[in-house]
Amino acid sequence: MDGYTDNDISHVVEADKAHVWHHLVQHKPFETGEPRIIVEGKGIRVWDQHGREFIDAVSGAVWTVNVGYGRETIADAVREQLVKMNYFAGAAGTIPGAIFAEKLIEKMPGMSRVYYCNSGSEANEKAFKMVRQIAHKRYGGKKTKILYRDRDYHGGTIGTMSAGGQDERVMQYGPLTPDFVRVPHCMEYRAADQGWGDLSGEEYGRRAADAIEEVILREGPDTVGALCLEPITAGGGVITPPPGYWDRVQEICRKYDVLLHIDEVVCGMGRTGKWFGYQHYGIEPDFVTMAKGVASGYAAIACCVTTEKVFDLFKSDPSDPLDHFRDISTFGGCTGGPAAALENMRIIEDEGLVENAKKMGERLMANLKALEAKHEVIGDVRGLGLFQGLELVRDRGTKEPVSEADIGKIVAGCAERGVIIGASNRSVPGLNNVLCFSPALIATPADIDAITEAVDGALTAVF
Ligand code: PLP
Repeated sequence: MDGYTDNDISHVVEADKAHVWHHLVQHKPFETGEPRIIVEGKGIRVWDQHGREFIDAVSGAVWTVNVGYGRETIADAVREQLVKMNYFAGAAGTIPGAIFAEKLIEKMPGMSRVYYCNSGSEANEKAFKMVRQIAHKRYGGKKTKILYRDRDYHGGTIGTMSAGGQDERVMQYGPLTPDFVRVPHCMEYRAADQGWGDLSGEEYGRRAADAIEEVILREGPDTVGALCLEPITAGGGVITPPPGYWDRVQEICRKYDVLLHIDEVVCGMGRTGKWFGYQHYGIEPDFVTMAKGVASGYAAIACCVTTEKVFDLFKSDPSDPLDHFRDISTFGGCTGGPAAALENMRIIEDEGLVENAKKMGERLMANLKALEAKHEVIGDVRGLGLFQGLELVRDRGTKEPVSEADIGKIVAGCAERGVIIGASNRSVPGLNNVLCFSPALIATPADIDAITEAVDGALTAVF
């Protein structure tokens, strides 16, 4: 904490307590306690106001800092770009905007166009708007419905909340936007709750996908424009669909002329051991949205990526003033975002971080499986690459979730042991029972082992 006196730090703590409205948390405990201020970061580690060191096993709380902290080359690239040309929007392009789009598309065969904006929510909103405009242009105002899945999350705006599968994040913010329709989740661990009988593996995957077809038929295929899914559900509990699911999903979308929108806000940019989560499943999306790892939090940038086929639908009649995408994202014209994203991508490539995420993910999975064998409270281990979760239950037979208070103790116990972990939200209030791990893609075997040792210690202490 070079350059900060103790006085400075206590002032920062007081200013934070007095004036910052923090994301996600209840503020009552802050009235008596002290907020954690993260003062510095390097690699996978961060330091708080007391100089305490932590391994950050969640990449900045919400799965963002894929290349780790303290990357001077990203800061340099952004600085250089900002002093040369910081911003221009609208019809004019910028150098980093064009070059990052080209490099991104190289990683996404079949995709073609990048629409820049600032947040995951906004990228999803852009895709929703495009779907609606296509409905008006091509289908006489029909096909405006967008399907989303129970437990998935797509953002905090009114539009994306309307596609929100986590009830507790939505239920107090209505009325929502019409024409968003929920399809059942695809979480094999909780299959019994869905009333489809005793199915597992591929059979379950296909059944969960069939449930999407049932919704399309119920709503009327001529009313359904798109299906929006996370490749692996993140905040809803780190849910990896079983084999069979995605093939069938793709088949259903094609059969009913439903556009497939994949939300890669969390899974994108190498997190799961491939550049994008959907690339594990051989699917061909019409829209891919991304944000967090695009510039690893060094700048705010998000992208809504489409195929040329989708793009073509918006350029049919130049004489019609309504016949293009009537949209702007002011800060989509910031050049700091794509400049940071270019250097972020170079680092991921040159340091082999996609491969490292795969390798370290296998180690993390093996370690978590070993914990499962040791701790009865672990009901399920899920995930892919450096994106994994542990579902904690009071009883493996009934699968009754542990309390949120116990989850809180585990998270605090890990922090006491020098590791910051996360806990995901679930659809039903009170069932916030999945521990989340998503360290930076630079994690070493020693980091992975340190993370699991902390979890082991905290589980032993609490249960
Ligand atoms: N989509 C997914 C899968 C997310 O997890 C999130 C945020 O956590 C979002 C979209 C929204 O992103 P943002 O918070 O940048 O608006």
